[in-house]
Amino acid sequence: MGHDHHHTHDTSTGNIRVAFFLNFIFAIIELIGGIYTNSVSILSDALHDFGDSISLGVAWYLQKVSARRSDRFYSYGYKRFSLIGAIFISVVLLAGSVVVIKECIGRIIEPQMPDAAGMFVLAILGIIVNGAAVIRLKRGSSLNERAVSLHMMEDVLGWVAVLIVSIVMHFVEWPILDPLLSIGISIWILTNVYRNLKATFHILLQKVPSDVDIERLEEEIRNTDRVLSIHDVHLWTLDGEENIMSLHAVIAPETTLDEQYTIKTQIKSVCASHGIDHATVEFETEEEACMQTNCGTFY
Ligand SMILES: [Zn+2]
Ligand SMILES: [Zn+2]
Ligand SMILES: [Zn+2]
Repeated sequence: MGHDHHHTHDTSTGNIRVAFFLNFIFAIIELIGGIYTNSVSILSDALHDFGDSISLGVAWYLQKVSARRSDRFYSYGYKRFSLIGAIFISVVLLAGSVVVIKECIGRIIEPQMPDAAGMFVLAILGIIVNGAAVIRLKRGSSLNERAVSLHMMEDVLGWVAVLIVSIVMHFVEWPILDPLLSIGISIWILTNVYRNLKATFHILLQKVPSDVDIERLEEEIRNTDRVLSIHDVHLWTLDGEENIMSLHAVIAPETTLDEQYTIKTQIKSVCASHGIDHATVEFETEEEACMQTNCGTFY
C-alpha cells in the first residue's frame, strides 16, 4: 500500500479509490471497536490500518498530481509531491503511536480487562478483510506487488496475534497481555515509519540511488570510445524511480560535432543500462579552464 516506491505498475485510479474506502471504513470500525471493547491492541491495529488508508488516499490523490508533466513552476514535474505524502503519514503514525504507548503504560501500571469476546469478533473480521487482500495480490509478481503482499501478510499476522490474545484472555484473566501486544504492534508501526522516513530523506538529501553502482557506471563511461576523462559527476533520484545524472566529459579538441553526437549517444545508453533515464553531458577539452574539475569525482 504505497510503502515501496519501486517499479510501481500502472493501477487504475478506480482500484485505489475502492481500496482506500474499504480500508478507511474498516479502520473506523476498528477504532470504534477498540474503544467499545476497551482493548489497546485493537486500537494500535486500528492506527496502523488508518495509516494504510491514508497512504492509499494520498496515492489516489497523487496519481492525478504526480502524473502532471513539468511546467514552468515545477521543471521536474510533480513526482516529488509523493514525498510530502510519505512525511505526512509518518507524522500521523508517530503521533498516534505516542498516544497508544502512553495508554499502554497506564494500563500496565493499572490493568483494565478488555472485552475478550468482542476482541475475538474484531480479530476474525480483521483476518478476513486483510486476508482477502493478500489472496487477491498473491498473483502479482512485480517487486512492488510482492512488497505490498508482504505488508498485507504482516497485517494479517497482527490480527492473528490479537485473535490468540483474545482466546487466551477468554480462559485466564491476564489483562496485561493486551497492552503488551499493543506495544509490540506499536514497535512494528514505528519500524515501518523509520524505514519509510529513511527512504524519503535519502531522496530529499539527493543521495546516490542505492540500486545504481556508481563506480561501475563511471568506469563504463570512462571506457567509452574517445572519452579521455570525466568529472563533475552528479547522480540523484527524483522520486526513487526516475534517476537523473549530469557530468562533464573531456574529449580531444579536434572531435567533430558528428563524433560528439556518437559519444553522447553511447554515454546515454550506458546511463540507461544503469537505470538512469535523464542524463546531461557537457563536453570540454583539456585546455579548457573548468571550474568543476574537483567536483563530483569519486576515485
Ligand atoms: Zn498495513
Ligand atoms: Zn568540467
Ligand atoms: Zn559539481
